[in-house]
Amino acid sequence: MIEHNKLSTWATNIAPSPTLAVDAKAKELKAAGEDVCGFGAGEPDFDTPAFIKEACAQALSDGRTKYAPAAGIPDLRAAIAEKYRDDNGVAGVEASQVVVSPGGKFSCYLAILSVISPGDEVLVPAPYWVSYPEMVKLAGGQPRILFAGQESGFKITPDQLRAAITPKTRLLILNSPSNPTGAVYTEAELRALVDVVLEAGIYLMSDEIYEYLLYDNVDHFSPASFSPEAAASTITVSGFSKTFSMTGWRLGTLMAAPPIAKAIAGIQSQTSSNATTFAQYGALAAMQKWAQSMAAVQEMLTVFDRRRLRLLSGLESIRGIRCERAEGAFYLFPNIEELGIDAAAFAAQLLEEEKVAVVPGEGFGAPGYMRLSYAVSDEVIEKGLERLERFCAKLV
Ligand SMILES: *Cc1c(COP(=O)(O)O)cnc(C)c1O
Repeated sequence: MIEHNKLSTWATNIAPSPTLAVDAKAKELKAAGEDVCGFGAGEPDFDTPAFIKEACAQALSDGRTKYAPAAGIPDLRAAIAEKYRDDNGVAGVEASQVVVSPGGKFSCYLAILSVISPGDEVLVPAPYWVSYPEMVKLAGGQPRILFAGQESGFKITPDQLRAAITPKTRLLILNSPSNPTGAVYTEAELRALVDVVLEAGIYLMSDEIYEYLLYDNVDHFSPASFSPEAAASTITVSGFSKTFSMTGWRLGTLMAAPPIAKAIAGIQSQTSSNATTFAQYGALAAMQKWAQSMAAVQEMLTVFDRRRLRLLSGLESIRGIRCERAEGAFYLFPNIEELGIDAAAFAAQLLEEEKVAVVPGEGFGAPGYMRLSYAVSDEVIEKGLERLERFCAKLV
């Protein structure tokens, strides 16, 4: 037995990912033959487009099985820089400002490590993606939570941000479209927040991993595109996982001002080294055949949108549940406070009694809410809604 007191501060301070835990429990029940409706998934239920897989398979058979430059293969970094210039409107980005990492999650961690020293404060709007506060703690920083509930559309305001900044604040984390809420900041809202960031002289980490998963004709904006000053203060994180259904490939991207990008490449070179070499060739095909990639994304979005609207109308018709119409990603984040039970107990009982898996809001810094992914089949949505309605009827 390893004794608890022999583990490090880092190990004992870090809570394991609760989203992965619910998913694991649901999969376990499924494996045992239970008919589980799993809304816990954090990944698209589509296969990676064939042309991307073929490019990777080709690279593998061509022998691209050795180390690559730590920050990524040069053609891929150049293609990503081009995407930021052409598609996101970030002027003058060069390949040297791009780092390809083993997953968007690791990109986030590298971004935090590159600007946070022990004792620094990091502003994390809640509901937040489960990993941000833990990553901040791993870097020795102090997460400071800014709550923005359903009444504010799950978005923080410039005043709220300004009031939270102290002399120790170094970084603000934004995630639009958001996991878990699906909320998308408008251009005006983002510009107003970026103004506060620049005024205060802090950094912004903009996690844009869901940038292409949008509905209701809303647009995505990259803070780095707003001005040269904004670009100098922003670390933009994204990746291939969500857009191209490539979660298992472990490929994330990061774009930052030259000194930050260089520091990040340095940290990566001493930790993970390069992301899997042949996988990067698959990602390169995704970038180079952009029209084909966007067509595949559009196909997935059409399906997601239909499911989003069905799940939303189903949730809205259940007494005690109030749900926002999320405009991005593939999650809904309904409020269940009127049911008079905390979200963790709600989720545990729901899984136990009705075999429906949802992720309780506590892990996202939002007790009173739950996250449902609609990256699941129509059948699961219909069956899940029926069971959820029956379960809630017993509570109110
Ligand atoms: C999924 C996700 C990521 C990164 O995922 P990877 O699989 O590591 O690429 C980053 N941020 C958010 C908010 C996510 O939901």
